[in-house]
Amino acid sequence: MEQKHQYFIQYMIKNGISTVENATTFCEYVSKGEIKNMTHLKTLILEINREISQQFYKIVLGNCEVTNNHLVLWLNTKNDKISQLQNIYSALELEYFHSIMQEILNSEEHRITFIVCINITSTLTDFFSRDKGQKVLNKWLKTGYFVRKSAHIYLGPRMILEFTSYLKTHYPDAVCNLCSDIVFVGKQCASCQKTFHSYCINKYLSNQNKCPCCQTIWIGTDEDGEDDAEDSVNQSHMVTDDDSPNSPVMRSQTRNSEKNRNHRRSTEEDVSNMEGRSMRKRNK
Ligand SMILES: [Zn+2]
Ligand SMILES: [Zn+2]
Repeated sequence: MEQKHQYFIQYMIKNGISTVENATTFCEYVSKGEIKNMTHLKTLILEINREISQQFYKIVLGNCEVTNNHLVLWLNTKNDKISQLQNIYSALELEYFHSIMQEILNSEEHRITFIVCINITSTLTDFFSRDKGQKVLNKWLKTGYFVRKSAHIYLGPRMILEFTSYLKTHYPDAVCNLCSDIVFVGKQCASCQKTFHSYCINKYLSNQNKCPCCQTIWIGTDEDGEDDAEDSVNQSHMVTDDDSPNSPVMRSQTRNSEKNRNHRRSTEEDVSNMEGRSMRKRNK
């Protein structure tokens, strides 16, 4: 491995999660301008993954559905995530972790408010101060297990990646009908109720205006009722894997078209479609 590979590995170990933009800037700097776009970055990641796969590590690219950030994540590919976490967090912290996760999964919109999240500390089997809760939650937000957007906490990109098989087993409906990855905060077809990642359906709709599943003219409902106000880089929610064909440029374009569509959409549609969310699909 060359120095640029080693520097990038160190960068990913230190950060755990990074936007593609920041990762590319870093690589451009350490490679003295050799790496300056997505294709170069992907090549570098492939080369690194080839070297580190035997140590059960992997660098993956993905998307944040909550913030629409395009991300790079450093992952441990060993299967037993729970025992990995046990090495890092105390039993009570893990209990808190699972309680938050469950609370989000049980909520209709797959998000809970920050306040509710902190209040969960008082429901644990032993005393766990709100202060401690906030500290460890910040750690999980930084490392991508959870995502904060405005007042809400969502499942994060790392959570979805590392717990994919668990989530797919227990929430079989929470799958994007375009890319087959997990989706908890997406867009839903008003006619057939099928769910898609915002970035998947926006890309699809850039060429046409029909739902990919039922072929009726697309009227989407947002699963995430919030506005597009963004929080920090680390507060992200990722879904796809390394071979996502989308460039960051395309992503920012789809993001804009999504915004426009959101603005055009009437409140009436929003309200009338609130009832039929992905997890309660009537039919498949
Ligand atoms: Zn998708
Ligand atoms: Zn449809």
